[in-house]
Amino acid sequence: MNLNERIVIVGGGPGGLSAAQAYREAGGRGEVILLSAESYLPYERPPLTKEFLRGEVGRDELPMQEAAWFEENNVEPRIATTVNALDRERRVLETEDGDVPYDTCVLATGSEPIRIPVPGGEDPDILVMRTIENSERLKSRVGEGSTVVVVGSGFIGCEAAVSLSMRGARVTLVSQEEGPQKQRLGEDVARRIEGWLEGYGVDLRLGTNVEGIERRDGGFEVAVGGGETVSAGTVLFGTGVSPRTRLAREAGLEIEEGGVVTDSSMRTSAPGIFAVGDIVYAMNESAGRRQKVEHWGDALTHGRIAGTVLAGGEASWDSAPGFWSVMGEKTLKYWAWSGGWDEARFVDKDGPDGEAFTVWYGKEGVCVGVLAHNVDEDYNNGRELVEQKSPLP
Ligand SMILES: Cc1cc2nc3c(=O)[nH]c(=O)nc-3n(C[C@H](O)[C@H](O)[C@H](O)COP(=O)(O)OP(=O)(O)OC[C@H]3O[C@@H](n4cnc5c(N)ncnc54)[C@H](O)[C@@H]3O)c2cc1C
Repeated sequence: MNLNERIVIVGGGPGGLSAAQAYREAGGRGEVILLSAESYLPYERPPLTKEFLRGEVGRDELPMQEAAWFEENNVEPRIATTVNALDRERRVLETEDGDVPYDTCVLATGSEPIRIPVPGGEDPDILVMRTIENSERLKSRVGEGSTVVVVGSGFIGCEAAVSLSMRGARVTLVSQEEGPQKQRLGEDVARRIEGWLEGYGVDLRLGTNVEGIERRDGGFEVAVGGGETVSAGTVLFGTGVSPRTRLAREAGLEIEEGGVVTDSSMRTSAPGIFAVGDIVYAMNESAGRRQKVEHWGDALTHGRIAGTVLAGGEASWDSAPGFWSVMGEKTLKYWAWSGGWDEARFVDKDGPDGEAFTVWYGKEGVCVGVLAHNVDEDYNNGRELVEQKSPLP
């Protein structure tokens, strides 16, 4: 291990921070600099559509580590610092404040929200959700009696719609999907989520496209399919994300399936450059193929692997990817390989609050995923079944 080595991490999300943490924990003694475009030290993103949006937790509860941790661990955070280019020949990261030389670089630039390409969709007053600022802006606009259109029935859209409804707003959720998450999780789960959203008072317009958005009377008029319009003071796009791979692409790193190609130790195609989190298309040893996932826990895992390897240890990605989604009081817990399924077995169970179910996802008879609501046993055991490519239960 080189004591004079300088590791520069680009991105202050869970992937970037956990790389720094793991490097120190594994005994790494080099210099560590963490560059982040955001104006905050690394913080928890999941509450932004949940407790933080509802005002149940404050900003002071979001940081992943206290400022003192950075000092104690000799990790230098440079916030509000955007990297404009990665120059592999000179081994520098170019920022507005000058070049930052590196010996090893970890790219952890995450994702950014997509704005759907409809007339009026580029209006900056139509909100998106990724950062503290995004969540605070939405919160400041929406309260008791406000009207909101949420576009998109992915997890961001569903979670935000429920939280806004819990804040007393009248929420309409518009989605192309015939049922929330139907394509990803199947018909039965879509119907359950639909019931939950309705139970929280969210008005659903499913299986319909947004055709355009116009400003009207200080708010917006959203044109949906069939010539109908929905008026609202606020519009939120929860219409997916795209990985921020520009730096990697321009530096000539290998990109496939929209992600930076890495091996299972998070090494990219370029010597001395690692990549972690939402941006990667990473090899997973248990799956025996690369995975593209956008989950909090997997970004932490990737960072941990990269940091350990950088400190001279050995680590590789072999766990099944997964996430939790929390819509009000309803929690879904999920493990699954990316790449879909051809069979979904829905099993209704008796749960503590009456409702509980598990869905086993299979591909060619092999268990490739599990999703559980109030059945922790299946969630906990299911991971192993997925990782071991067991037959579909
Ligand atoms: C509101 C919300 C709720 C979510 N809830 C869940 C959940 O419940 N469960 C779950 O599993 N996942 C959830 N996710 C997804 C999860 O947050 C992401 O998968 C995770 O944050 C990805 O981590 P990352 O480190 O790859 O990138 P990010 O967290 O996106 O962090 C990337 C960082 O890099 C910085 N950056 C980018 N480009 C540059 C540059 N050129 N120079 C300097 N800095 C740069 C960004 O500003 C950012 O700080 C949620 C996401 C959002 C937005």
